[in-house]
Amino acid sequence: MENLERIRALEEAAIRDFLTGLHNRRFLREVGAQLFAGLGNGQQTLCAAMLDVDFFKKVNDTYGHEAGDAVLQKIGALLKKQFVQPHVVARIGGEEFCMLLVNMSQSALEALFEKVRLSIQESLILHNNFPVPITVSIGVSTQVTNTLNELLNQADAALYIAKHTGRNRVVFHQPVADPSA
Ligand code: GH3
Ligand code: MG
Ligand code: MG
Repeated sequence: MENLERIRALEEAAIRDFLTGLHNRRFLREVGAQLFAGLGNGQQTLCAAMLDVDFFKKVNDTYGHEAGDAVLQKIGALLKKQFVQPHVVARIGGEEFCMLLVNMSQSALEALFEKVRLSIQESLILHNNFPVPITVSIGVSTQVTNTLNELLNQADAALYIAKHTGRNRVVFHQPVADPSA
């Protein structure tokens, strides 16, 4: 019995990010593959989003690494509240988070990610009683793709555009226009 509990704890630890308590990249990949395979099987759409904290290096440099960690924990808590099953949210890298959303309309996605962006911007994160200003950029893809990787890459490309057009914004991946159309 004790062994079983230990195994379960190890299994749980293997799919969690220690700092935020969110799921990790490994879990996102596993469940993402399942969600991708379920497309057309009663599940109509899958959306991927990448969220990256703006100028996070500067946050660490200005307020210290511990304050940076506290920011990541706060963002993790906000995202955990926003994205519940069947959706998935994970911390996939230092200050990068990824979300997979199931069966949501374009307008619902636009409203949701705008709300997420704003809620992070408006969340009061204090360091030595002073507010630490935080914004995030978000890239989203709702395109039909052949692989999960492709969908994630498109969200990444949209994030790249969000970063290079001013940050603190949500950008949806735009399909390349078909010149023959
Ligand atoms: P950009 O707006 O272009 O995303 O700029 P950025 O500064 O956020 O991006 P960059 O990739 O230059 O820096 C990311 C920083 O995140 C650098 C690294 O020290 C910090 N970081 C990564 N993981 C952690 C962590 O677990 N805790 C803390 N406090 N900082 C971390
Ligand atoms: Mg980054
Ligand atoms: Mg960043």
